Amino acid sequence: MTAASTLLAAPAAEPISQTQLAGAIAAYTQITQRLQESHDRLAREVARLRAELESKNRELERRSRLAALGQMAAGMAHEIRNPLGGIALYASLLASRLMQDAEGAAIATRIATGVDRLNALVNDILAFAGEIQPQKRPILLSAVLGEAHELARGRLEAAGTRLSIRCECDVEFQGDAHLLVRAIANLLFNACDAAGEGVVAITAAQVGGELEISVADSGPGVPAELLDRIFNPFFTTKDRGTGLGLAIVHRIVESHGGRIAVRNAPDGQEPGGAHFVIRLPTGAAQGAGTGNESAGLGAAAGFSAGA
Ligand code: ADP
Repeated sequence: MTAASTLLAAPAAEPISQTQLAGAIAAYTQITQRLQESHDRLAREVARLRAELESKNRELERRSRLAALGQMAAGMAHEIRNPLGGIALYASLLASRLMQDAEGAAIATRIATGVDRLNALVNDILAFAGEIQPQKRPILLSAVLGEAHELARGRLEAAGTRLSIRCECDVEFQGDAHLLVRAIANLLFNACDAAGEGVVAITAAQVGGELEISVADSGPGVPAELLDRIFNPFFTTKDRGTGLGLAIVHRIVESHGGRIAVRNAPDGQEPGGAHFVIRLPTGAAQGAGTGNESAGLGAAAGFSAGA
């Protein structure tokens, strides 16, 4: 039998019924819909990854800028430190020679006060620019908060600021007490400057595997347009500020594998000013990576992260 005769002998194809056609169209529509959904999902994932990449690149750029800035600042600070030592020495010699001359002695004292301020600035620059390697030991959270309070007591009292400390979990964790006390004290200094005769509240709690330490004040808060800049080194709005306090806090927190964020208290929440939150890993989570996670806290709670 030839091919042509086979074709002629084949039974005629059954016509497709309306129901079959509708079924085929429905199946086709369903597949198209699924393809569209997975395309949308992939597009969203690509957008998310692209945003993450951009943010990581920005972070990398920021870190290398900071490293260069830190190196330059540290170099300058070292150069300034030596002549400052000399000036301090000569000012004290002058003061002792001018014991009988009240006006001259007052000038020598003013020189010494200026030198003290410059020394503090140099120390801050070195603290910010230098390597921060926490010497971790078991420490009690309440002890860290208590020591920070002691360090800030004079300033709080002079400004008439009331401080409350609520430590809901007095856990022991691995940390460098000296560095962490300094970080909390820096936040207290700022809170005190902002609150004046108002209040500052420290609260500490354990949230999941992390310690959350928050320092909130009743000051005016941080202007929204500055929220992203206040952790930058040398950023200050104060006449006598150095702009290094928060940059140092950020580095200390990061060196403990933690993160810090800031926001202004929403309407009706007390105290109504700036609200800084430090999160530190505890237990098994300790020793985990550093500050790159900052965006998480910031994004989750409407905080501006200090990364
Ligand atoms: P400095 O205190 O020398 O200015 P910081 O790095 O500690 O340096 O702070 C940077 C800036 O952040 C401050 O000048 C201020 O504008 C802002 N800031 C910090 N803490 C607060 C706060 N609690 N309330 C309002 N603004 C704050």
